[in-house]
Amino acid sequence: MRRWNGWGEATVEVPLPSIARMFLEEQLGPGILPRDCTLEEALAGVPPSRLPPNPLIQTDPEIRLRHAVGQGLPDWIAARSGRIQAPDGVAFPETNEEVRALLTYAEAVGARVVPYGGGTSVVGHLRLLPDPRPALVIDLSRMNRLLALDRVSALATFQAGIRGPDLEAILRAHGFTLGHYPQSFEYSTLGGWIMTRSVGQFALGYGRIEDMFVGGRLETPKGPWILPVLPPSAAGPDLRHLVLGSEGRLGILTEATLRVRPLPEVETLQTFFFPDFAHGLAAMREMVQAGLPLTMLRLSTPEETRMTLRLAGRERVIRLLEGWLRLRGLGENRSMLLVAAAGTRRVVHAAVAEVHHIAARYRGRSLGSRLAREWLRQRFRSPYLRNTLWELGYAVDTLETAVIWTRVPRMVTAIEEALRHGLEDEGERVYAFSHISHVYPHGANVYTTFIFRLTPDPEENLKRWHRLKHAASEAILRLGGTISHQHGVGVDHQPYLEAEKGALGLAILRTIFQAVDPHGQMNPGKLIAEM
Ligand SMILES: Cc1cc2nc3c(=O)[nH]c(=O)nc-3n(C[C@H](O)[C@H](O)[C@H](O)COP(=O)(O)OP(=O)(O)OC[C@H]3O[C@@H](n4cnc5c(N)ncnc54)[C@H](O)[C@@H]3O)c2cc1C
Repeated sequence: MRRWNGWGEATVEVPLPSIARMFLEEQLGPGILPRDCTLEEALAGVPPSRLPPNPLIQTDPEIRLRHAVGQGLPDWIAARSGRIQAPDGVAFPETNEEVRALLTYAEAVGARVVPYGGGTSVVGHLRLLPDPRPALVIDLSRMNRLLALDRVSALATFQAGIRGPDLEAILRAHGFTLGHYPQSFEYSTLGGWIMTRSVGQFALGYGRIEDMFVGGRLETPKGPWILPVLPPSAAGPDLRHLVLGSEGRLGILTEATLRVRPLPEVETLQTFFFPDFAHGLAAMREMVQAGLPLTMLRLSTPEETRMTLRLAGRERVIRLLEGWLRLRGLGENRSMLLVAAAGTRRVVHAAVAEVHHIAARYRGRSLGSRLAREWLRQRFRSPYLRNTLWELGYAVDTLETAVIWTRVPRMVTAIEEALRHGLEDEGERVYAFSHISHVYPHGANVYTTFIFRLTPDPEENLKRWHRLKHAASEAILRLGGTISHQHGVGVDHQPYLEAEKGALGLAILRTIFQAVDPHGQMNPGKLIAEM
């Protein structure tokens, strides 16, 4: 069963290698473990439901509690301390008609509605905000079927509640792939991806979810809204882009048609080391600007490279590898680049040859598929380390942005410095490291992980998180980055959105939401604040 107050299946534990644990203790001091409340204690705090009975709605306290928050650090702090506001009911519709009936019911009883995909939001999309109205969560997990597959046009239509592994397994059985692998793949859903403009690990080749979503159906408070499936069209603004990233504000996406690809003949993943981050970054930029048919370029800073090796755990092997790298002039400042390609044998072969050629010009050394295979094996297991770290008394969170190439190095430094010094006046250190995992011809994302010590007081933990988030977000805005490249806005990024969209942009969005949802029922307060 899935953990109610952490990441993943309760039976899966991913231990922290002792070398990484010792390192963290050296960096931050020994962890301080807060007392987590038990499920029984949390359930005791769930008040009776305020929703009138409805055969489609369940009001069992445990089901409600399990749908109260997402996976952001404020969500974790709320769940672990039992300070959690549960919705009044949860529905699990199976058809468009049931979704429609639930929206009609919600309007009749004056309830707000929170659409729920896989519950993996990290920016507060699912958190209930103060509001006197009862809250109904609509969990789409039973809307998980393939509805149509057009092999000739390479289009697949799914119900929107399908989770990543199920969607990919169905497509693969038919010889196709979507190629969308966010790190939350295990639980996140098609509807959630579209509503948050998600980006998968192999987006360089397969595209962002917005490149894959070609049409669909929403149930809105004003009735069904159909987005027809068309090749690119010049018929005015593309309304798909209103739906993409609308975070549940416009209605419930029940069906989505996706552009899919035939399974590639070969896939390859290789590791390179560069003498420093600047060389790796220049090589990576040249690779993307050359338009090579790659599926991933992922460059770690020297600090993240060191952490990745520590987390690999096998101390003797890593020591040998480090010795081998040092002999080749790749010392403490080395940066690790992962490169993936997929396609026909001939295309992949040519792309990899060109990658080697470019890497060599920037003094990059190839390690073949070693380490890269390990990354591939561990990539959906690393989120489990959040549980392990919490239980050792440390909080871990990530933040991300994207910016034009000329500002990438400064952005990495500015975010990391803002975090490292963010709790200095409390005498606390923060450990931060970054990578670049999504690249475009004109810019790249910056993805930073930060770890700090918990205290026994949940309010204090939340305050620490707020201070760090604010310092890093200010640094992002100062350097002209987007407040989110892949996680969305939710609640946590709202204060920084106007800098990007402008006051007029926000007013336009508000007007659109009001046109579709005049009573402000749909996920109120998310993406943009209520007036
Ligand atoms: C460990 C971890 C790793 C992550 N890695 C990535 C990553 O690599 N790339 C990335 O892009 N994101 C990542 N995320 C963030 C998160 O997984 C994405 O935002 C994801 O797209 C959310 O999908 P979900 O199905 O869980 O949606 P939820 O979290 O359930 O919901 C997210 C938002 O979408 C709305 N919504 C969901 N389904 C529907 C629907 N059918 N109709 C209308 N509204 C709906 C909700 O109301 C909410 O506003 C990660 C999160 C975690 C915890």
